[in-house]
Amino acid sequence: MKIAFIGLGNMGGGMAANLVKAGHAVNAFDLSGEALSRAQENGCVTFTSVRDAVAGVDAVGSMLPNGKIVARVFADDVLGHAPQGAILLDCSTIDVGTARQVTTDAVAAGYDMVDAPVSGGIAAANAGTLTFMVGGTGTAFARAEPILSCMGKAVIHAGASGAGQAAKICNNMLLGASMIATCETFAMAEKLGLDLQTFYDISSKASGQNWSMTSYCPVPGVGPTTPADNAYQGGFATALMLKDLKLAMEAAQSVNADVPMGARAAELYAQFDKAGNGGLDFSAIIQTLKDQA
Ligand code: NAD
Repeated sequence: MKIAFIGLGNMGGGMAANLVKAGHAVNAFDLSGEALSRAQENGCVTFTSVRDAVAGVDAVGSMLPNGKIVARVFADDVLGHAPQGAILLDCSTIDVGTARQVTTDAVAAGYDMVDAPVSGGIAAANAGTLTFMVGGTGTAFARAEPILSCMGKAVIHAGASGAGQAAKICNNMLLGASMIATCETFAMAEKLGLDLQTFYDISSKASGQNWSMTSYCPVPGVGPTTPADNAYQGGFATALMLKDLKLAMEAAQSVNADVPMGARAAELYAQFDKAGNGGLDFSAIIQTLKDQA
């Protein structure tokens, strides 16, 4: 297939490269010259506008920073410019309302479209092991699935348009809250005089077990190797966790959902980000909880 890919940053760069590796012809566009050069090195054909990149393609993928940009790029330069009938896949993390609106406009203009946000960071984008949560009709999902499979290890149909974004922010609200719960627990365990490796050995086999503990332990030297063992560099940036928690709070408000733990996680990550820690992995919030304790 010929696939246009828009947004070749930390995530999109690796995703476009994996489409090339799977044998697709990839037309790449980004505002950044550096991102375009990297895409060219990875076998993409680069373009100087979205409109040129989407001409004559079978599919258009995007991995952009936020909902405003996604809405603008699709309204101004994709709809009416990509061939009618092309399948459109937005993989960015954006708000549910914008995702639904962009798809409604795309369908009205004669396209199939899915929202297909991802779980997994830059390493998973490069390795082609992302998990895609997909919102859209059954037909759109069936068309999107083989393309998304080239970039991920799991492609799951979450439901109708917007359901991919809804699943993504629900998952990440749970992740933010569970990471903070894990961090405060280890900070307290230390104060109570427990050896942290011993506590890990116990809790990881007891009912406190959770992903933030056993796959992403925030304590250096305990559990598997994680960003905590690398001074909280790399991994999933606090600024991105905060972005997702803000989207989750907006979504909660829109449906009148009571989310006290998610709301507290959003507050704590906002404080941590404001203190200049936006670039640190989100598990670094354990430092603040230890200080406060
Ligand atoms: P990034 O900032 O590295 O990349 C975004 C790219 O989009 C940049 O290269 C930028 O130049 C480009 N861009 C911006 N406006 C554009 C436009 N109008 N036309 C074309 N290109 C444009 O960000 P990222 O980390 O790759 O994240 C992208 C999306 O993936 C975000 O929605 C983010 O929330 C989501 N996400 C990121 C991660 C992660 O770990 N980084 C994980 C899951 C989801």
